[in-house]
Amino acid sequence: MTQNHSQSSFLPMSRSLMFWKIFQVICWLAGIALLLVMFVNPSTGVMIFWNILIPVAPALLVIGTGVWRNVCPLGTTALLPDRLGFSKKIKLSSKMQAVLHLIAVLLLLLIIPLRHVLFNQDGQATALIILGLGVMAMFTGFMFERKSGWCSGLCPVHPVEKLYGSGVAFSLPNAHCSECVRCSVPCPDSTQVSKPFLSQNNAVTKATELVLLGCFPGYVWGWFHTPDYTGAEGWSRLNIVYGYPLLGAAASLLIYFLLNWFFKKHNKVIIGVFATAAVSCYYWFRLPILFGFGKLETHGMLVDLSNTIPGWSITAFTSLTTLFFFWWMVIRKKERISWSVRPRYVRGSGLIS
Ligand code: SF4
Repeated sequence: MTQNHSQSSFLPMSRSLMFWKIFQVICWLAGIALLLVMFVNPSTGVMIFWNILIPVAPALLVIGTGVWRNVCPLGTTALLPDRLGFSKKIKLSSKMQAVLHLIAVLLLLLIIPLRHVLFNQDGQATALIILGLGVMAMFTGFMFERKSGWCSGLCPVHPVEKLYGSGVAFSLPNAHCSECVRCSVPCPDSTQVSKPFLSQNNAVTKATELVLLGCFPGYVWGWFHTPDYTGAEGWSRLNIVYGYPLLGAAASLLIYFLLNWFFKKHNKVIIGVFATAAVSCYYWFRLPILFGFGKLETHGMLVDLSNTIPGWSITAFTSLTTLFFFWWMVIRKKERISWSVRPRYVRGSGLIS
């Protein structure tokens, strides 16, 4: 793992950075507009959020985590107190940040099953939880230095960024940090890594790593074997809604343990295989549902192609995505690049570049 100071980006930095800052504002405004759509026209909001944006997200995190880090509307919201000059800028220790990571993973595992009960079909409830996360993001931005509280701390998407973003295709300008104040050490945005978790070796980080890496593939598998419930029925089926993903999680954790036990030297490959299994499992089940080939009762269809294209074509497509992710995340020789280029250190930090 090395700190990245001088990676190239696509365009000369100033123009490129300006582009990302403009894009960031556009995405933030689009996020507000989508929230309004969720309240005014919930079914359209659900369709755009759960059936278009969210299915694109895992692949985006695998290929270019920095894109999402630059434009995520919740991230921009978290940094508003810093931008507007009213953040308390409390420095978080790496131990404390490790605790926030663990809470973020648990938050993620807690929220996802509720899609079957509520969020997949209720735009207003989805908008409310996003608003709730927005308030949390803003609060952590108000309390803590730069990205440490939310984007690199409590955000429930951050663990997935770490899981999938170990071999990105390119490094972008950091559209949130024109100068680095060392809010997070090591900085997940600016550090070249080939493993999801950076070098902290404390017990909390180990637990987070175990929960995320070991459990996530089985958790995703279990999630896709749980139906959507309508009305109040889902609340009486929480044992199924949480039970299937947790059962899957326990099974994959056991396999993760055993593989690490027997092939300890190949831990890096095992991590790659488990990260690949999680993202591939997602698309393996999600793509058929999106295009009308789903077997379970869900609200996740984008367009029904089941009478337009043969069934085997969707199997071929999902097989190709799995092969692609396996090649990208396990076989391909990864370039050691970070999600974004580290900006120069702020004056006074003693590390001015
Ligand atoms: S570049 Fe510096 S200020 Fe920005 S997130 Fe990383 S450590 Fe924090």
